Amino acid sequence: MNPAAADPLTFAGMVLLRSFQFDFTRYIGAALLIGAVVWVMARTRLASRKLQKRQATAADIRREFLQSVRSCMVYAVISLIVVALMKAGVLHPIARNGGWVKTIALLVTMIVLHDGWFYWTHRALHHPALYRRFHLAHHRSVTPTPFAIYSFSVGEAAINALFVFLWLVFVTTPPLTFLTFMLFQVLRNGMGHAGYELSPRWWLSTPLTRWINTTTHHDLHHAGGFNHNYGLYFTWWDKAMRTEHPRYAETFAKVTTPAPAEPVGLPASA
Ligand SMILES: [Zn+2]
Ligand SMILES: [Zn+2]
Repeated sequence: MNPAAADPLTFAGMVLLRSFQFDFTRYIGAALLIGAVVWVMARTRLASRKLQKRQATAADIRREFLQSVRSCMVYAVISLIVVALMKAGVLHPIARNGGWVKTIALLVTMIVLHDGWFYWTHRALHHPALYRRFHLAHHRSVTPTPFAIYSFSVGEAAINALFVFLWLVFVTTPPLTFLTFMLFQVLRNGMGHAGYELSPRWWLSTPLTRWINTTTHHDLHHAGGFNHNYGLYFTWWDKAMRTEHPRYAETFAKVTTPAPAEPVGLPASA
């Protein structure tokens, strides 16, 4: 059935359902993919890349999953508002807007701006006046797992979704830009909660990659470094605002140093 031809109530129901399907599929796909990578790592020598001694419990994973499902419901409601405002001409549509160069330039701009949006809203949510109501739900995960991707309070989920809303106030966004951004966002978020460092050992040593966040960066924030590492994709805001965890580089180096090979033991006669 063509949603545009349906009566308003049916149309709203279809938008809600399709938005939920879209967000939940992205969420569960990314969580399972990164979960599978971590499961394999835990059974190889890369097990030494585990960032915390503590193991997440089944109750942790259940809470992260249920809160993420709730966030997908919040996103569906916001999507319905977005679609209604697009139809009313208040928001720009998701539609073709120029060629390849513009599609890529808009994607890069969206990622850079979202990183800034996340840094500053995240930092604000750590203010004592906001923390308990909005952000504590996410920080119940001291040892996060990939299922924590959207493990937010209702308010924090809405704040996160507000970025795309504000973006659409100003920009007609090509479908490819939008879809790539949504996939990039969920995968990068999942990497931050992987619990195992996924980046290569040289990551913080090159001028280009040191600006790109690692799992260690966000894990330190969950493990107790509440006043540090607010960034999402990049480290530049934390560096510029002097909020980078003082033991970030040290922890990254420690966890990415290969574990010594199993001692093979010497022959009894030696
Ligand atoms: Zn936080
Ligand atoms: Zn987190």
